[in-house]
Amino acid sequence: MLKDACKCEFTNSYKLEADFVADPIWCNVCGWNLDIDDFPLTDNLKDELYQWTKQYKKIPINEHNAIGQNLAGKMREELGSDYKIVFITDK
Ligand SMILES: [Zn+2]
Repeated sequence: MLKDACKCEFTNSYKLEADFVADPIWCNVCGWNLDIDDFPLTDNLKDELYQWTKQYKKIPINEHNAIGQNLAGKMREELGSDYKIVFITDK
């Protein structure tokens, strides 16, 4: 589905998980880090995802998870049923 994404040619399952050094979208099968710009998301939502990643560990964990859940929901809305987005709760 995404060119040059990872070796899992037919997966459409992704996880949303913040990290200090990478974009927060990963292949849910092999764990490959994916480029946010490869997803057909609105600039608004991409921006929100970047902001959320930047705040990682700088805001309380429950707040981080609440925003992440919300962003995962927005991603599902924008991407539709072709993509499966799983939010990984941070501990
Ligand atoms: Zn993969």
